[in-house]
Amino acid sequence: TIIIAEDLTPSDTANLDRKRVKGFCTIGGGATSHVAIIARSMDLPAIVGLEACALNVENGTSVILDGGAGTLRLSPAEEEMKEVQERLIRMKKRREEELASALEPAVTKDDHKVLVVANIGGAKDAEEAVKLGGEGAGLLRSEFLFLERQTEPSEDEQYEAYQKTVDALGKDKPLTVRTLDVGGDKPLPYLPIPEEENPFLGERGIRVCLNRPELFRKHLRAILRAGAKGGLQVMFPMIASLDEFREAKKMLDEEAEKLGQDSIPAGIMVEVPAAAVRSELFAREAEFFSIGTNDLTQYTLAMDRGHAKLAPQIDALHPAVLSLIEKTIEGAHKHGKKVSICGGIASDPSAVPILVGLGVDKLSVSVPSIPTVKAVIRRMTLKECKELAEKALQLATAKEVRALVPALD
Ligand code: PEP
Ligand code: MG
Repeated sequence: TIIIAEDLTPSDTANLDRKRVKGFCTIGGGATSHVAIIARSMDLPAIVGLEACALNVENGTSVILDGGAGTLRLSPAEEEMKEVQERLIRMKKRREEELASALEPAVTKDDHKVLVVANIGGAKDAEEAVKLGGEGAGLLRSEFLFLERQTEPSEDEQYEAYQKTVDALGKDKPLTVRTLDVGGDKPLPYLPIPEEENPFLGERGIRVCLNRPELFRKHLRAILRAGAKGGLQVMFPMIASLDEFREAKKMLDEEAEKLGQDSIPAGIMVEVPAAAVRSELFAREAEFFSIGTNDLTQYTLAMDRGHAKLAPQIDALHPAVLSLIEKTIEGAHKHGKKVSICGGIASDPSAVPILVGLGVDKLSVSVPSIPTVKAVIRRMTLKECKELAEKALQLATAKEVRALVPALD
C-alpha cells in the first residue's frame, strides 16, 4: 500500500507497518523536513510537498511512486509497469553490489579517503549502521529522546541511551553527539517556549540550552559520562557567533571537572551562514565542524525547509550554499580542523562527488545510504571531483549543478 496523507507526524511515520506500507506521500513538508529525514532513515520511498489534488486519488488505484524523481503516476499502463519492474531489478542488482563492498573503506581511484559515517537517533540505528559499513556516527540527534513525552528524561536515562549507542558502535567507531536541538519545528511540552512569529528564527538549538543552564548542564553531564572512555565528541547546533560556542564549551569543561574526568572534543554545527562566513575564526577554538546543510540552505535562501510550495527550490546544491561549504572547509583546514557534512545532501549520490571535490573530510549520511555513498566515492578520482566542484561554483542555479552529475538510474 502507498499512503497519501495531508501530513504525517514523525511518530506516525516511524510506526508505519513496514510489511504493508511500501511508501507514502504527503501534501505538507519539504525534502529536509523531519518526516522526510525519518523516511530516509527507514529506507522508505516517499514524496513530500505533493499537490493537494493527490488526496482525491481513489482507494485501490494502482500507482507508481518514484521517491528519487518525486513523481506519483496514477493508473499506469502495462508497458509502464513493465519498465518499472525492470528498473527495480537493476536497482536491486546495484544494491547487492554495494552491499557486498559496504565494509570496505571509501577511497577514490586516486587514493583519497573520505570517512563515511551515519546519522542516527540511537543505539538501534548505530547497530544497523555498523552492519552497513558505517565508520562511526557523525550525528546523533539527541533530541529524539526528549520528543513526544511529557517529562524531561533524567540524567541517568540520557546517559544510558548514549552509553548504549557507544556500545552498539563498538571500539574504534567514534560517536558525535549533537546537543539538544529543539525549538523551531520541534517543540517540547515540558519546555515551553513562548509563541514566536518566526520559530525558525527564534529560540532554537543552542539558544534554548544556553537560556536553560540547568537542563543543559544535566544533558552535558550525561554526554560526558558516556564519553569517559573516549571515542565520543560533542557538537553544538545553530551556532551563530563565537561567544555562544565559548559559553557552551565553558559549561562542558566545568561539568567535566565536577565529574573528575577529562573533557571531550567540542565542535560546532555550521548551519547558520554567519558561522560559515566566519569559519576561520571558529576553527581556532572548535575541534571540528559539521555542516548542517538542511538548515544552512533554509537560512541562505531564506526559504522555510518545511515549505511545500518552495520545496523544489530548497536544494543544498544551490551554488550559494556550495560557496559557503567551500568557505567553511577553507577556514577549518587552515587550522588543521576536519569538516563533515551531516545534512541530507551528503546522502544524495549526485551530490557526493561535488562535496568530495570541495574538500570535505567526512560524510555523515542516513543509515541505508552508507553503502551507496561509499560506492559513489570509489567510482571517482579526487581530480574529477575537484573539477566538478569548480564547475559547480561557477553556475547560477541548483538545477544547473544537478545537470553536471547525472542521477543514478
Ligand atoms: C541540518 O540542519 O542539516 C541538520 C543535520 O540538522 P537537522 O536536520 O536535525 O536540523
Ligand atoms: Mg539543523
